[in-house]
Amino acid sequence: MAQRETPGVPDSHDPSAALPPLRIFNTMHHAVVPFVSLEPGRVRMYSCGPTVYRYVHIGNLRTFLMADWLRRTLGFFGYDVTHVKNLTDVGHMRVELLDRGEDKLIAQARQEGKTSAEIAAFYSAAFFEDERQLNILPAHVFPRATDHIAEMIAIIVDLEARGHAYRAGDNVYFDVARFPDYGKLSGNRIAGLLAGARDGADPHKRNPEDFALWKGAEPGRELSWPSPWGQGFPGWHIECSAMAIKHLGRHLDIHTGGVDNIFPHHEGEIAQSEAHTGEVFANYWIHGQHLLVDGLKMAKSTGNAYTLADIMARGFEPMALRLLFAMVQYRRRSNFTFSALAAAQRALQRLRGRVAALRASAGEPGVPQPAVLQQFAQALADDLNLPRALPVVWRVLRDDAAGSAADRLATVLPVMRCSACSSTHRRLQPHASRHRSPAWSPSAIWHGASRPMLQPMRCAPASRPRGTA
Ligand SMILES: [Zn+2]
Repeated sequence: MAQRETPGVPDSHDPSAALPPLRIFNTMHHAVVPFVSLEPGRVRMYSCGPTVYRYVHIGNLRTFLMADWLRRTLGFFGYDVTHVKNLTDVGHMRVELLDRGEDKLIAQARQEGKTSAEIAAFYSAAFFEDERQLNILPAHVFPRATDHIAEMIAIIVDLEARGHAYRAGDNVYFDVARFPDYGKLSGNRIAGLLAGARDGADPHKRNPEDFALWKGAEPGRELSWPSPWGQGFPGWHIECSAMAIKHLGRHLDIHTGGVDNIFPHHEGEIAQSEAHTGEVFANYWIHGQHLLVDGLKMAKSTGNAYTLADIMARGFEPMALRLLFAMVQYRRRSNFTFSALAAAQRALQRLRGRVAALRASAGEPGVPQPAVLQQFAQALADDLNLPRALPVVWRVLRDDAAGSAADRLATVLPVMRCSACSSTHRRLQPHASRHRSPAWSPSAIWHGASRPMLQPMRCAPASRPRGTA
């Protein structure tokens, strides 16, 4: 599994090596299922990205880290991954506020005396920096919603022509009742939704749970576009369908997001995409669980929606946060506390110390222990079970009887490389411009090292990903 690399050549993992079958929890099936890609050796993966009107919080970052571990694991298992992550810069009204005409992006812009575009550019840059600090691999494409209005309009026109959408007032709605599969992801079926219909729902809607594909612009609205239905702006769900289909095709392998995206966002994406294409939209729906802070839901009002900058201002390394999040499987609720983060920071230092000690006593280069790396791979193959993978490493580090220092070093370096260097991890940053994912070493999967293992890391200047100009 672990191989020596030619300097400058990505770690070439042999997919034919005896790896365990990769299994992952698919929300659509409510079960851990084998992963099979549509096309052999290739994976098309879409992640719902940030809404760029504020800093992302550490709960958002946990979800983006999940997608990063998933992508790196797929690479390790021999897949060539194409990853697209959108930037929501339209300032859609939040779904629950649609009928009240509130829009956070515009409200924030007004508050800060800036245009919506300036706000979006500022927070996009902040988001890229957060991902860089956490060694999250940049997506191959970061499409911006405002660059895809024409694609959204084209889908809405098609949905209207097929009878799945209707115009009412200045708005266009998706007709949920015309899509029998509505609710297949979340389990929210229409009959139940109708029974629970709220008072004060939009009187234009045929069904209370129909959702807006297009909204007429109110007078004075800054962000709006001409359309067949007049000046307006898109609904939230349609942006992801349009960008995913444009950049990855009509049928994706994987769609990721947080559990709070399952309904209504992903349910809406499925309905409008499948009504439009007649095909399954995504085979695997993978969702990261909520992060609590001190046992509470994160909220601006509670003051516990911490950002990465908040964490760093208290003296913690971003890599300690990455390690902390690796200790709880993505599918479980995790409770963030600063004492847990402090423990993760100490663990990071211990890991570095143990590796330094092995380095000091290792003479000639050692030979990786395949059984250990196999255990590591088995844990990853079991629904990205990083909490089970980490102790595999600890055992090798702690147990002096586990082999010679050189062999142990050669075994743990793959999973330790970046933690050993994390004080300089800025210099180890990847390479935004790669359009193909190399096969990642275990170190990359765990800690975000992206360079070949078992050789000195070389510093590659980070170039700007597409779509971030
Ligand atoms: Zn989305």
